[in-house]
Amino acid sequence: MSAQRHKTITATKHCTGCSACVAVCGLRHALTMQPDHEGFLYPQVNARRCNHCGKCYRRCPSAQLETGKQTLADLGAQAFAPRYLALSLKPDYKNLKDSATTGAAYRISYAFIREGGSVCGCRFNYDKGEAEHVLATTLPELDALCGSKYVQSNKHDVMAHIKAQLKSGRKVLFIGTPCEVAGLKQILTSAEQELLFTIDLICHGVPDPQSLKLYLKELSAQVGPVQHLNFRAERWADSLITASGPQGTFKALGTNTHYYFAFMQYLNLRPSCYHCPYASLTRVGDLTLGDFWGVKSIIPDFPYPDEGVSAAIINSQKGISLINTLHYHTRTVREVSAAQMQVTNLSLRQPAPEHPKARALYYAERDRTGSVVASVNAVIARFGQRT
Ligand SMILES: Cc1cc2nc3c(=O)[nH]c(=O)nc-3n(C[C@H](O)[C@H](O)[C@H](O)COP(=O)(O)OP(=O)(O)OC[C@H]3O[C@@H](n4cnc5c(N)ncnc54)[C@H](O)[C@@H]3O)c2cc1C
Ligand code: SF4
Ligand code: SF4
Ligand code: SF4
Repeated sequence: MSAQRHKTITATKHCTGCSACVAVCGLRHALTMQPDHEGFLYPQVNARRCNHCGKCYRRCPSAQLETGKQTLADLGAQAFAPRYLALSLKPDYKNLKDSATTGAAYRISYAFIREGGSVCGCRFNYDKGEAEHVLATTLPELDALCGSKYVQSNKHDVMAHIKAQLKSGRKVLFIGTPCEVAGLKQILTSAEQELLFTIDLICHGVPDPQSLKLYLKELSAQVGPVQHLNFRAERWADSLITASGPQGTFKALGTNTHYYFAFMQYLNLRPSCYHCPYASLTRVGDLTLGDFWGVKSIIPDFPYPDEGVSAAIINSQKGISLINTLHYHTRTVREVSAAQMQVTNLSLRQPAPEHPKARALYYAERDRTGSVVASVNAVIARFGQRT
């Protein structure tokens, strides 16, 4: 009698690329993440190795949400009344220029490692021309995690490493997009989850890794092989992109660069981002961090409104313990209502709006020319600056 064949994962437009399915499939090479024609990674089953156990499908957060087997609240922290904060931190640490908003994520990570835990976050791997999640166990390793990388990160086998650390009794802090947090939680037992702390970022969406590779190549014509890239260097309010290499440094306002334009105009986000179930106030992390854009319009007397203000949502008791580690760094903290936090941040209200024709043109031109710059110029020529 043959063994029962359970449903195997298939990649749909709801697949976020969280990689939980690959992490949960213990069979070597039965399931791997492979790039599609746009460059996004999707799970691919090797039929000869798969034993149809169905674990990948049962643990996929997107499938759980799609079929209604779990709700967003099930995936996140439950039975907790969230608190919404506008947070300004003292400009008292060395990596502030590299951090995205206030360096809250970096400072919490620092305290976490000092207390004996490990931190998993996203860094650039310049040799591979990609962003990737890695597990940091020492303080110097945290430097590379500072700053927002506007591209989908490759999780490689980091989830298996996190699981092993938790199993060995070590606390782990995971920082990433909400879909990554949801995916990680799905593959852990409740005992392992006890030692897991999570920060989910307010998330606009992620561009494909292939666009970043091509853009790095275009930048390298000016600076040589890129060794340092920051999408939000030096100051908060207007993103300054800096890229440096052996032949110099490129510096430009984000809005004047083609890569950032494509990101901000939603041209090259992952298909799931246009239907993102996490773009709401129901959060999956213990603590949520993002930008408190337009703080002046919500809290007119907020001091230093242009120097970086974090939006923070405390979603659980663990979230309280994470935010408490910022105590000595805090300059101003104000509590706001859920509605006030949502009003200036689209990503807390709805998924990224898609312009299918502009997106299709971007990818068609990118395939034709191999250039992000040329693709964005083609979109602007056809649809204007606003798409
Ligand atoms: C792709 C993306 C989209 C975002 N969209 C919005 C938005 O629409 N609205 C908003 O308010 N905030 C958004 N943010 C969050 C914001 O940009 C900051 O990351 C957040 O405020 C934390 O800043 P910080 O100074 O505390 O972090 P830092 O101390 O600078 O640390 C940055 C942290 O972000 C993590 N990180 C960086 N890049 C990635 C990535 N690609 N994938 C997963 N984790 C990553 C790192 O692991 C690190 O822990 C987005 C971030 C990213 C990465
Ligand atoms: S959403 Fe995550 S778990 Fe589900 S198929 Fe995609 S990568 Fe796998
Ligand atoms: S069904 Fe089981 S063996 Fe097959 S890919 Fe999924 S988890 Fe792996
Ligand atoms: S927008 Fe949603 S699906 Fe896209 S990366 Fe962010 S959390 Fe994931």
